[in-house]
Amino acid sequence: MTDHPNTPSGAPPADTPTAGAPFDQLPLAPTVLANLRQLGYLHMTPIQAASLPIALAGHDLIAQAKTGSGKTAAFALALLARLNPRRFAVQALVLCPTRELADQVTQEIRRLARSEDNIKILALVGGSTLRPQMASLEHGAHIVVGTPGRILDHLQRGSLNLEALNTLVLDEADRMLDMGFYDDIAAIARQCPGKRQTLLFSATYPEGIAELSRRFMRQPHEVKLLEQH
Ligand code: ADP
Ligand code: MG
Repeated sequence: MTDHPNTPSGAPPADTPTAGAPFDQLPLAPTVLANLRQLGYLHMTPIQAASLPIALAGHDLIAQAKTGSGKTAAFALALLARLNPRRFAVQALVLCPTRELADQVTQEIRRLARSEDNIKILALVGGSTLRPQMASLEHGAHIVVGTPGRILDHLQRGSLNLEALNTLVLDEADRMLDMGFYDDIAAIARQCPGKRQTLLFSATYPEGIAELSRRFMRQPHEVKLLEQH
């Protein structure tokens, strides 16, 4: 069952689409809806139907659902909806546990982004040399996707500026915690503007997630699709 313990009524918002509903029930740009159709994403998956209305309304969100349930598009559509393409500054940061996942997330956001807006998405992962990443950052980006260690490295060098950030996404948060990234995530979150939306996605809900939520999220709504485990 979908659980909304932090909504004022304790119940899902009345307009929550049900799983399987078409994406055009949501306030998404027509070009984004066209991209979804082109990808063959005709209907929302359960986690997308449960989390997108909350995320699009600007709330912080903890979303828990099994691997393969479509969590990437859930946060990608939310951060794209808030993005101002005319402001060429990093407005969204997605933290992922591994280089491979960061690359996959980067590709998914690119597929969903409005092509006419020339939204620039940069992947900053460990294992690649720093200098080309620093050069790319000098040219600017709207969205950065990366692994915590490398993102923190760029913040400490001053090559990444998060002053314009409005969305922070912690993807596969449980895996990032397993890999020992808690302190790096905390250090990054401390450098993000206080006035932002934080979206946390995870397949499981270990204690470290509650800790991250207490320290770095504001009255997050929680969506847990437990029956999918
Ligand atoms: P998760 O992050 O939950 O593990 P992904 O975001 O990687 O899941 O999505 C799993 C697969 O489902 C991907 O191949 C993705 O392209 C596909 N997918 C996501 N949303 C939809 C949708 N609404 N309709 C059809 N396929 C989808
Ligand atoms: Mg995922």
